[in-house]
Amino acid sequence: MTVMYDRVALIGLGLIASSMFWAMKRAGIAGEVTGYARSDETRDVAREIGLCDRICDSAAEACEGADLIVLCVPIGAMDAVALEISGVLKKGAVVTDVGSVKRAVIDAVGPHIPEGVHFVPGHPLAGTEQSGPRSGFAELFDNRWCVLTPEGADADATAKLRSYWEALGSNVDEMDADHHDLVLAVTSHTPHLIAYTMVGVADDLSRVTDTEVVKFSAAGFRDFTRIAASDPTMWRDVFLNNKEATLEILGRFTEELFALQRAIRQGDGEHLHDYFTRTRSIRRGIIEAGQDTDAPNFGRNPKP
Ligand code: NAP
Repeated sequence: MTVMYDRVALIGLGLIASSMFWAMKRAGIAGEVTGYARSDETRDVAREIGLCDRICDSAAEACEGADLIVLCVPIGAMDAVALEISGVLKKGAVVTDVGSVKRAVIDAVGPHIPEGVHFVPGHPLAGTEQSGPRSGFAELFDNRWCVLTPEGADADATAKLRSYWEALGSNVDEMDADHHDLVLAVTSHTPHLIAYTMVGVADDLSRVTDTEVVKFSAAGFRDFTRIAASDPTMWRDVFLNNKEATLEILGRFTEELFALQRAIRQGDGEHLHDYFTRTRSIRRGIIEAGQDTDAPNFGRNPKP
């Protein structure tokens, strides 16, 4: 693979940035990669494990002369970071981000992007419950979707960023930012909230002891605990910044839950069976699309 960007700057050095670095190295698509994280501790770890070619002591220093700048911080930190780097961005550079909510990031970052610099927001639909500079791995984005929400950004800059994500292993789609936020509220944000709630319920239930929860942890609950172990800062920011869509989906969720509650109370087995039959087909669709790495046939599906 040939080098696509001579200089790439990663701002924030957690799961997503470190995975991106290793995936860039695997693909050979970046010249020098600079990195910055706010804490000395993270920067020291990055130097120790060889994460980035050069670790800088400020975000502005990391971005000086960069052709591609990737903001990999929690959504609530995007505004301040964009402000900090805005003075050093070179003409023709592309700024992108990996935030899980798009409208709020566009509103926060957009105003700080100077004339002649291209802002192409993005979101890789890939992650784990791990965080920090040691948690990344080159395969994270393989066969996962990355959504770009360019909203009138320069076509060449967008096309190049698309090729960059494809070189990292992703499938790329483009979407309107508001639509992205609604889709993600359904497929990721609300499910996370439900997982947090279910684990919280188990924790609150004093008639079931902690040891029983751990010992008899069946697949459903175990999956919830994995999701509910996700980074608290990141998820706080997701809900605070995708308020409307999450509340809309939560409202619908509550209605469906009440209907199921009534069916159980009334012994309406037909309602339950029909409902579960419908949801089962959605699961099959996800596996057929190759979007579940835990499924036995993962990897055998062609890229969509
Ligand atoms: P992470 O592993 O927790 O790393 C976050 C990084 O941001 C760390 O380097 C941290 O610095 C820095 N940071 C935290 N708060 C900051 C602040 N207030 N100001 C400046 N820097 C700050 O996070 P991640 O999972 O890589 O997530 C990064 C972004 O990717 C988020 O916007 C998230 O929405 C998005 N995303 C996450 C996932 C996922 O599953 N994890 C998936 C897709 C997209 P220190 O280490 O120095 O504290």
